[in-house]
Amino acid sequence: ITAIELTEAYISAIDAANDRLNAYIKITPDLARVMAKNSDERIAAGKAGELEGIPLGIKDLFATVGVHTQACSHILDGFEPRYESTVTQNLWDDGAVMLGKLNMDEFAMGSSNETSHYGAVINPWRAAGSNQQLVPGGSSGGSASAVAAHLCAGATATDTGGSIRQPAAFTGTVGIKPTYGRCSRWGTVAFASSLDQAGPIARDVRDAAILLKSMASVDAKDTTSVDLPVPDYEAALGRSLKGMKIGIPNEYRVDGMPDEIETLWRQGIAWLKEAGAEIVDISLPHTKYALPAYYIVAPAEASSNLARYDGVRYGLRVDGKDIVDMYEKTRAAGFGKEVKRRIMIGTYVLSAGYYDAYYIRAQKVRTLIKRDFELAFDAGVDAILTPATPSSAFGVADENLAADPVKMYLNDIFTVTVNMAGLPGIAVPAGLDHKGLPLGLQLIGKPFDEETLFKTAHVIE
Ligand code: GLN
Repeated sequence: ITAIELTEAYISAIDAANDRLNAYIKITPDLARVMAKNSDERIAAGKAGELEGIPLGIKDLFATVGVHTQACSHILDGFEPRYESTVTQNLWDDGAVMLGKLNMDEFAMGSSNETSHYGAVINPWRAAGSNQQLVPGGSSGGSASAVAAHLCAGATATDTGGSIRQPAAFTGTVGIKPTYGRCSRWGTVAFASSLDQAGPIARDVRDAAILLKSMASVDAKDTTSVDLPVPDYEAALGRSLKGMKIGIPNEYRVDGMPDEIETLWRQGIAWLKEAGAEIVDISLPHTKYALPAYYIVAPAEASSNLARYDGVRYGLRVDGKDIVDMYEKTRAAGFGKEVKRRIMIGTYVLSAGYYDAYYIRAQKVRTLIKRDFELAFDAGVDAILTPATPSSAFGVADENLAADPVKMYLNDIFTVTVNMAGLPGIAVPAGLDHKGLPLGLQLIGKPFDEETLFKTAHVIE
């Protein structure tokens, strides 16, 4: 098959399914055809890159030259960057083909992909015997839905508190958030800069390994990117788990967790044991503070990062009687409800008088969370196995969740700790629930040891 043929097949699949799933907000068929033609020429000339001719979807958070990049927010209407994000540039340099931009929660804030200015993304999965539409999770819901429905071979995604792993778990796909610093954040619209990391969502562990290898790099334009060699992750697949220690953190048995999540976790433990790993109980005592601390740190950083959207430099402008009035009107019209909530929380916790009580306190908690993991790894644990999410995918426009944002935030209970500690985490499909919906397990690794996650996840998938 040629790159052009493969690309045309994906374009047809998108045309047929996107009205129903709303996974892509912008399809770039002309660009895709040019890129695919170039791929075919390089293949013919014997100069194929590692991803030559592979059609990918790109989360709308990544800046793409000349292609509308909006973080699915009204406030970035019409913004076409003059620069390319380092992660996407790495993919193009390896020969990948861009199919278009993928839907997401506005500024990556959400766990259901319902906060997008472009409307909710639909999960291609349905519960057995039901027609109810389900969410794909968020914020990388467009990425997850598109990969699950074969509307791209793989997708870029980002994860600040779970936005790669939770949607992967809800759609039966594989998603890895690498160690903080593994991928450059340059050209990725910032949400919470000390937590944001890019990573792939893919159909299996092997594809995720190949994509991450391409996406990862040290980058002079992001001083938090780390100058370490990027291993050949694919080579790790199939390596033995003998001698490995897998930690099972007691604190992840949360109240009200469905029995079938517990059963899935046990099944995962059994598979890893069978593959030769030793299972040890561990304690991560500060786990219960991770979610509240995250919802201070992330909004604090977001409120600062989002200050730049002022109607002058980017996208939308709503005229006012003077410049301050213009700022206010633009921001009032341009940001959605969830984003405004985060800006208000963030501004509050950073304000004089509250800074020490909230923000500084949350940063201290963050250090304790990180130390919990360090102690476990120092004691010889190689990776940690947990459920990826406390439930399978829920319905679109769930009244319970809409009425109470904190309930929505609880979706991240197993994933945010990893961002707070800067560690790598992978979500891998591990089975179906009683409704026939996918459930995922999460593996958490040592800093920059994504290889161990790939080889261990490969045993589970
Ligand atoms: N759901 C979390 C939030 O809304 C995480 C989002 C993310 O990882 N981008 O903040």
